Amino acid sequence: MADTYDAVIIGAGVFGSGIAYELSRRGIKTCNVDMFGSAGHGSTSSSGAIIRFNYSTVPGVQIAWEGNHYWEDFENYLETTDELGHARKVTTGSLFLRTHEDFHQLYVRCMAAVGVPHEEWSPEQVAAGLPPLSLEAYGPPTTDDDERFWAEPHGMIPGALYTPDAGHISDPQLAAQNLHTAAKAKGGEFRFNTTVTEILTTADGSAVRGVALSDGSEIHAPIVVNVGGPFSNELNALAGLDGTEAITTKPMRHEVHVAASPEGFNYEEHGMMVADLDNGMYFRPEAGNQIFIGSTDPECDGQEWVDDMSTLNREITEARWNLQTMRLAKRIPTFGVPHQKKGLADAYDVSSDWGPIYDRTDLDGFFAARGTSGNQFKNACVGSNLMAELITAVSNGHDHDNDPLVVTGRYTGAELNMGEFSRNRSINPDSTGTVLG
Ligand SMILES: Cc1cc2nc3c(=O)[nH]c(=O)nc-3n(C[C@H](O)[C@H](O)[C@H](O)COP(=O)(O)OP(=O)(O)OC[C@H]3O[C@@H](n4cnc5c(N)ncnc54)[C@H](O)[C@@H]3O)c2cc1C
Repeated sequence: MADTYDAVIIGAGVFGSGIAYELSRRGIKTCNVDMFGSAGHGSTSSSGAIIRFNYSTVPGVQIAWEGNHYWEDFENYLETTDELGHARKVTTGSLFLRTHEDFHQLYVRCMAAVGVPHEEWSPEQVAAGLPPLSLEAYGPPTTDDDERFWAEPHGMIPGALYTPDAGHISDPQLAAQNLHTAAKAKGGEFRFNTTVTEILTTADGSAVRGVALSDGSEIHAPIVVNVGGPFSNELNALAGLDGTEAITTKPMRHEVHVAASPEGFNYEEHGMMVADLDNGMYFRPEAGNQIFIGSTDPECDGQEWVDDMSTLNREITEARWNLQTMRLAKRIPTFGVPHQKKGLADAYDVSSDWGPIYDRTDLDGFFAARGTSGNQFKNACVGSNLMAELITAVSNGHDHDNDPLVVTGRYTGAELNMGEFSRNRSINPDSTGTVLG
C-alpha cells in the first residue's frame, strides 16, 4: 500500500520547505522528499542569501520588496520556535556601482514605482559611506591571463545607487531548517535520504498521481511540486514535460569565496553589499569579519553549464579563487590577496531569462517553483506563498494559463501578478542576462 498525501513536494531546500509550510498552514497534508539528509542541504546551503531590490522589471522589484518583509518578520512568520535558533536578516545597505547608465536608470525607475527607498550617491558620498572602496574604472571585466587585467584604470565610476534596506540572511541553510520545523509544526512530513525516481501519472497521462522512490515504494498524491533546485529540469523530464515550456532551465556551476576583511576595516560591521559589473563581481559582509565574494558571470569567465548534476565539482578551484580575490583587490585596494582559499561551489538553476518560474505545468496537478537563477533565495518565503495560492486556486479549477492569478502581498499589499513568472512568458529583453536578473 502506498502512502497517500494531498501533496508531495520534491525537494526540501528553502523553497521546498517554504512551500511545505505555506501548504500546511492551509490544512493541506504534505510530504517532502529529499535525497539529501536534512533541509537546506542542496544549493540553498551555498547561497549568498543576499536581499536586494535592483531588478529590471517592476514585478521583479515588487516581489523582492514583499519578500524582504517576510525576512524582517521571519520569527513571527514561522509561528513556532526552533531549538536550532533562527536565521535573521542582517541589514547592511547595498551599493550598485553606476557602471551601466541604462541599468541604473531602469533600477531607479522600478524602485521608485514600487516605493523602495533608494538614493543616487555621488563619488563623495560613496567615499564617506564605504571608505575603503575605490571607484576606479577598469571594465569591461577581463581575466587575469589577459594583459588588460593588469592595465591602469581608465577613468572613474560616477557614483552608485544606494538602497538602505538591502542585506543578507545570516545562515541560508538554517533558514530552510526553520521553515522545515515550522512546516512540521503544522503537520507537514519529510522524508530525507530518499530520491524520487519516477513521476507517476494517470492511465491517460494527463494528470499526476504521485511519485516512485529509490527504495521501490510509491507515494500517491493528486498534487506534486517540483522544487528540485538545479535538478528541476531532470524532474520535469521525468514528468514527460521536455519541450512543453517556452522558458527552459539548466544548472550552471558557481563558486563563491570568503576572505578576511582588509587591514584596518571591519567589513562585517561597517561594510555593505556591493554590485560591481565593472569587475564582474559582487560582495557583501560575512560573519567573522570577512567578505563573501560572488561573480556576476562576465562573458570573459565562460559559463560552466552542468549536463549531469551527479558529476558537479563542489570544490572551489585555485583559478577562480585567485581571479575573484584579485578583482576584489582592485575595488578595495587595502584588501591584499589572501593565500588560504575558502568558499563553496554549487549550481544555479538558470532559466532562459534569469527570472524564476512559479507556475503549473502542462501535466495536471504537477507544479514547479524553479529557475531561481542564483537570485531568488530572497523570494523563498513570498514565492512559497504565491505557490500555495496557485496550487489551491488551480486545484479548485482556476484557469491560470488564460487568467493569470494575482495574489495580494501579505505585507505590502502589492498585487503580484503570477503571469510574470509563467513558464510560457516572453523572454524579458531588459534582463542583465546575469544573476542580477
Ligand atoms: C552559489 C550560490 C549563490 C547564491 N546567492 C544568492 C543570493 O545571494 N541571493 C539570492 O537571493 N539567491 C542566491 N542564490 C539562489 C538561491 O540560493 C537559490 O535559488 C535557492 O536556494 C534555491 O532553493 P531551492 O529550494 O529551490 O533549491 P535547493 O536548495 O537546491 O533544493 C532542492 C532540493 O531538491 C532535492 N532534489 C532534487 N532532485 C531530487 C530527487 N529526484 N529526489 C529527491 N530530492 C531531490 C535536492 O536534494 C535539494 O535538497 C544562490 C545560489 C547559489 C548556488
